[in-house]
Amino acid sequence: MSRPAVLITAALLVALPQPDALARRPGRSGPSSPSSTEASVTALSTHPVLAPWTGPYGGVPPFDRIDADQLAPGLREAMAMYRAEIDAIAHARGKATFDNTIAALEDAGRALSRVMAVYGIYTSNLSSPAVQAVEAELEPELAGFFDAITQNDALFARVEDVYTRRDKAGLTPEQQRLVWLVYTRFVRQGAKLDADSKTRLSAINQELAGLYTQFSKHLLADEDTAITLAETDLAGLSASTRAAMATAATERGLDGQWVVVNTRSSVDPFLTESSRRDLRERVWRAFVNRGDNGGETDNNAIITRILALRAERAKLLGYPTHAHWRLEPSMAHTPERAMALMEAVWGPAVAKVHAEVADMQAIADARGDGITIAPWDYHFYQELVRKDRYDFDQNVLRPYLQLENLREGMFWMAGELYGLHFTAVTDVPVYHPDVRVWKVTDGDGALVGLWYFDPYARSGKRSGAWMNAYRDQERFHGEVTTIVSNNANFVKGAPGEPVLVSWDDAETLFHEFGHALHGLLSDVTYPTVAGTSVPRDYVEFPSQLHEHWLGTPEILSRFARHVETGEPLPQALIDKLHAASTFNQGFGTVEYLASALIDMKLHLAGDTPIDPDAFERDTLAALGMPDELVMRHRTPQFGHVFSGDGYSAGYYSYLWADTLTADAAEAFVEAGSMYDAATAKRLVDDVLSVGNTIDPADGFRAFRGRDVSIDALMRDRGLVPAE
Ligand SMILES: [Zn+2]
Repeated sequence: MSRPAVLITAALLVALPQPDALARRPGRSGPSSPSSTEASVTALSTHPVLAPWTGPYGGVPPFDRIDADQLAPGLREAMAMYRAEIDAIAHARGKATFDNTIAALEDAGRALSRVMAVYGIYTSNLSSPAVQAVEAELEPELAGFFDAITQNDALFARVEDVYTRRDKAGLTPEQQRLVWLVYTRFVRQGAKLDADSKTRLSAINQELAGLYTQFSKHLLADEDTAITLAETDLAGLSASTRAAMATAATERGLDGQWVVVNTRSSVDPFLTESSRRDLRERVWRAFVNRGDNGGETDNNAIITRILALRAERAKLLGYPTHAHWRLEPSMAHTPERAMALMEAVWGPAVAKVHAEVADMQAIADARGDGITIAPWDYHFYQELVRKDRYDFDQNVLRPYLQLENLREGMFWMAGELYGLHFTAVTDVPVYHPDVRVWKVTDGDGALVGLWYFDPYARSGKRSGAWMNAYRDQERFHGEVTTIVSNNANFVKGAPGEPVLVSWDDAETLFHEFGHALHGLLSDVTYPTVAGTSVPRDYVEFPSQLHEHWLGTPEILSRFARHVETGEPLPQALIDKLHAASTFNQGFGTVEYLASALIDMKLHLAGDTPIDPDAFERDTLAALGMPDELVMRHRTPQFGHVFSGDGYSAGYYSYLWADTLTADAAEAFVEAGSMYDAATAKRLVDDVLSVGNTIDPADGFRAFRGRDVSIDALMRDRGLVPAE
């Protein structure tokens, strides 16, 4: 069983609950009648958060009857229920079989799965000091609980028994893979260790859970600081940036002033637009030093401890390093293969940065600015180059990019490619008035699932964008349709005013919708292998691929219409957009890769104690990191890696998946259209519908007719391969 998967974008991430690849996944509640154990325990419970979901569409979360007070008691009661179910499976009479062991595990923990789905929503979408207190209390408890399951000797003995006889048991290919996955996950979590090692492993996991929560808390505290400015400090800033800064000031009780909040969404526009170099430097320094300022919110000691515990855990489990342990079940399989991809791209990307810096320096010199490009200058001069070279200002796109039209465009895309239909429904409860729900049906009108959309920023909601599944598709006890959600942080306008977004935000919208489609198109038997439950370095492939449809003429001509005139986006602007598509890819690739390389090297370093600042400085120097930019996420603020295990030694995944993405997009181009029916059908058959029922490399090969090639990625980013 696993925590509800939360899939986040590389561009927009802050610390979010991380999915983890542990051997844990409670089954999901379905429309079928609750099992007898469930019915009896539910009868004792006073918490609606535990009850099987009822209502239309195979049952929906009863948000109208749930509140935060139910989370802690609900989680504890659900853990107790799951523990009882596990005991029954572990001590069943007779020989272990697929049905009484593996399938029984799939059917266990359904109440916990329901509570975890709601808990995930409260911690990501509805967080408050009370919810944070529940989180701090429950995370170590949950870590210990899940360890107890993987360390249950009687249970593992039965799993192992089924595993050793799997070839002769007449199982389907999906069942065989499920047996292999369950067994492997148990072993990877220490099921074969001796008693002392198991005790130590569990202590490590619980200490780590506490450290992850502390890391996130420190980061949030540093991001909640702000630099206050006066009207004379606003030179160069656009009206929309000034307005956002004034709103942020008012929220802090600083009426009539302007603040730059220490978050990426506030800092990036300031660095791009402000002509005050002194202030750019001040804002930049505050941002890149999050978690690295000494004092109560400093993350360095926490990181040193996390790395030591991870290295110790890897050794206990029989792996040379944490990176080797983490990558074993990934598509890359080994750190060496992930490093090889990163190193192939690093040199060409650094070369492109040097070219970009030369362009910027030339403009600065021509203007007589008398400066040498520094990291706080990059965004500012890059915009000047963009305007100079491509005569293209991204802001002119905004009036054409209305959130609701783009949403309709995504629905249209899903209809063209996959025959899906989206119909708004109002007969299910939601957890906030901003949330809307659509019913998804196929060409025959059969229910495929529900799509919940929570688009707007608000207090208590994490920043960034993400997808998660409240319920996975499955059918081994009857057809269960999925419930997926997309979440974003768009700024809500006045009532009735259309919400306009940037091109990057529009891409993110399509990205998250790609994750949602991966969940919706799932067509498997068992929930553990459904939808997005695939390796970390494969899961971003379907999402990144769907970004490619935003720029198609079919979408732009129909859905990118001017907010006032209704005119479609002019072809001349589309041409400029495409011409500028490789612009600044040196910066984007190097700031990302520097983080990905540091992540991998930190987790390959073994068990020598690590000083994060020194390690980062020395490693970047050895790599030849250009002076004019920094890592996208410096170590003390690297939430992907230190607010959970999920992306640790895994930040490379975005590049790995993007290599698949670029290559897959070219399959459509080669077929003559991004809407080519045969190619779309192969994508469904070999990638989107199969979840984790097959090896990802096999799925990609079936779709593309060959193994992945790096060439398309290099073309996409305008990089020249090293000779
Ligand atoms: Zn994603």
